[in-house]
Amino acid sequence: MSAPIVIVGSGLAGYTVARELRKRDSNTPLVMLTEDDGAFYSKPLLSNALAKGKSADALVSADCDSMAAQLNMRILPLSRVVSIETARHQLVCEGQRLDYRALVLAVGAEATTLAIPGIDLPGVLSVNSLTDYRPFREQLEVAERVLIMGAGLIGCEFANDLLAAGKQVELVDPLASPLAALVPERAGQALATALTQAGAHFHMGRRVASLAPSQGRLQASLSDGQTTEVDLVLSAVGLTPRTGLARAAGLRCGRGICTDAQLATSEPDIYALGDCAEVQGLWQPYVMPLMSAARALAATLTGQPTALSYPPMPIIVKTPVCPMVALPPPAVAGEWHWQGTGVDLQGEFRDPQGALRGFVLSGEQVAQRQALLKALHYSDNNEQQSALA
Ligand code: FAD
Repeated sequence: MSAPIVIVGSGLAGYTVARELRKRDSNTPLVMLTEDDGAFYSKPLLSNALAKGKSADALVSADCDSMAAQLNMRILPLSRVVSIETARHQLVCEGQRLDYRALVLAVGAEATTLAIPGIDLPGVLSVNSLTDYRPFREQLEVAERVLIMGAGLIGCEFANDLLAAGKQVELVDPLASPLAALVPERAGQALATALTQAGAHFHMGRRVASLAPSQGRLQASLSDGQTTEVDLVLSAVGLTPRTGLARAAGLRCGRGICTDAQLATSEPDIYALGDCAEVQGLWQPYVMPLMSAARALAATLTGQPTALSYPPMPIIVKTPVCPMVALPPPAVAGEWHWQGTGVDLQGEFRDPQGALRGFVLSGEQVAQRQALLKALHYSDNNEQQSALA
């Protein structure tokens, strides 16, 4: 029997590529190895599960066995791959060797940990998986006041969700406005205003310098000398792609595991996609890029070499107090033009010829998304990708 296609990782990237493969070929032997329990869940739901009234268990849409049956695939849960022997086309897991015909790395990213005193204390958490989410929900049962480190997409979404559940929320971020990596300051301020009106307290332009236990709570000392006492700290300061396995096997890595447009790494028959991958120099830790990547890779693995081509990929920020959609512009000359007031903004980025190259919509204006996508000047795939990096 020929060696299987092996997928490492059971997140959205691993399962989406398995699904896309099965749409094209129902029989090729497929094996998935995953460090977690292999349950299928949609990770974006983690940051609005409270508002949706969903427990951690309710977020699981299918367990490992049902996924294995659905996809006619062998899944080995709780199986950490420790090395890849590229010359032999083998990987090593739990002391066993497994042959692969093609290997797909979909190992995701780690939540970045700040090197500050107290970061290891109980009650300081980050949430980048369902496994992380369970203790977070347990500790929330008794927590009233939560400090969120990082006012990016994930920090702001959790802030909104916690406020909706009646928690007191403080956010700390060294940048001037929330979502600064994604949207211009004016749009970030609209979100800050809406979250503040909902009860959040922002400490922008500041860092958490240290955390210390304080009579059953946590005391956070900020870079401006202020202190605040909270019951729980959620660290949402960014992600670091998991490249250790790939690096040790000699695969070329930059920020993520480097691939070409066909998702091929620097070693034959090894591919990467999702949060671990840097595709043509770009690292895009979002769902839409991995969906496009999974479709292209499935075609390649079933004998139709296919280069990845991205459609415009707006990013939706799940903050019901001020919903937002952003399509960051590519790195071209141009300027932002604004319409609307308060939290209902429409920002259009137009190049010197007047062509629409990116946009941000907030509040009621999110209804304009389809119209702006239609109007978008989008001819250069690579150019648009660079905006999202
Ligand atoms: P992961 O989900 O991290 O999966 C990695 C898998 O690899 C896991 O199964 C892990 O167990 C396994 N693994 C790792 N190392 C090994 C090993 N050595 N051996 C075996 N298995 C291993 N994106 C959007 O586009 N829209 C959103 O609204 C949005 N909201 C988000 C909200 C939150 C709270 C978070 C955290 C992310 C959000 N994202 C959103 C990002 C999106 O969810 C991710 O881009 C996507 O889920 C990444 O999937 P992945 O499969 O690449 O990685």
